[in-house]
Amino acid sequence: MVEVVAVPAFKDNYIWVLHDGQHAAVVDPGDAAPVWDFLARRTLKLVAVLVTHHHGDHVGGLPALLGQVPVPVYGPRGEPISTVTRPLGEGDPVTLPELGLSFQVLEVPGHTAGHIAYYGHGWLFCGDTLFACGCGRLFEGTPAQMYRSLEKLAGLPGDTRVYCAHEYTLSNIRFAKVAEPDNAALAERERREKALRERNAPTLPSTIALERATNPFLRCAEPAIQAAAARRYGRPLHDPVEVFAVLRAWKDQF
Ligand code: ZN
Ligand code: FE
Repeated sequence: MVEVVAVPAFKDNYIWVLHDGQHAAVVDPGDAAPVWDFLARRTLKLVAVLVTHHHGDHVGGLPALLGQVPVPVYGPRGEPISTVTRPLGEGDPVTLPELGLSFQVLEVPGHTAGHIAYYGHGWLFCGDTLFACGCGRLFEGTPAQMYRSLEKLAGLPGDTRVYCAHEYTLSNIRFAKVAEPDNAALAERERREKALRERNAPTLPSTIALERATNPFLRCAEPAIQAAAARRYGRPLHDPVEVFAVLRAWKDQF
C-alpha cells in the first residue's frame, strides 16, 4: 500500500513522497534537507526521483540527494537538467518496481517548453502546469500550448487526484471568484480550502472533477468566463485559447 505525502519546502512548495513504509520515490525535490528529514524519520530508502521541469524549486535538491544515494532520476527530455538519467517524452512509461508503481508520461508544455506530468494509479503529478484552481505562468510556452496541455489534463478521469507542486490555492480562488463570481461550486470550495489552511493542512490533492468545476483556466468555454474575459479585454471573445490568454495575463497582474 503506497502512501503519498506532502513534504513542505521553501515558502509554498510541496515535494511529494510516495512510499510503502520501506521504499520511497520523490517528485520535484527542490530542496534536499526536508526530504532527508522525512526519509530518516520514517527510515525509508530512496529508490527514484521524478522531476517535472527544470526550475530550481523543483530540481535544486538533486545534487545533494544524489550525492548520498545515486538513484535513477526521471525527467523531461529536452530540458536543461544535468542530473536526469532517464529522459522522458510523451507516452513513455516509468516503472518503480520497488514500490509496485508505474506511470505514463504526459508532455504538458507551457510553463516551461519541456514540462512533463506523471499519471498512474489515479494520481497525477503535474508540477507547475495545473494548480488547484489555477495554472502555472507562461515562462516558455504560448497560451495555445498551455491551453492544450491543460485540456489534456482536464480530460483525465474526474476522480484523478491532482498533486501539484505549490500551495497557491487560496490566492488562485481569489482570482477565480473575480473571473466567475456566481460559481456555487467555487464558493463551496473556498469555504473548504480556507478551513484547511486555517489548520495549516495542505489543500492538495485536488481532483480533476473539482478543477473542471471551479478552475477558471479549465472553463474557458463557459459563457460566464468568456464574458468576464471579454469585459477585461474590451471586445467579445469566443475562442477558448483567446479567453485563456486574457485570463492568464489578467492573473499575472492580479
Ligand atoms: Zn516552475
Ligand atoms: Fe515551481
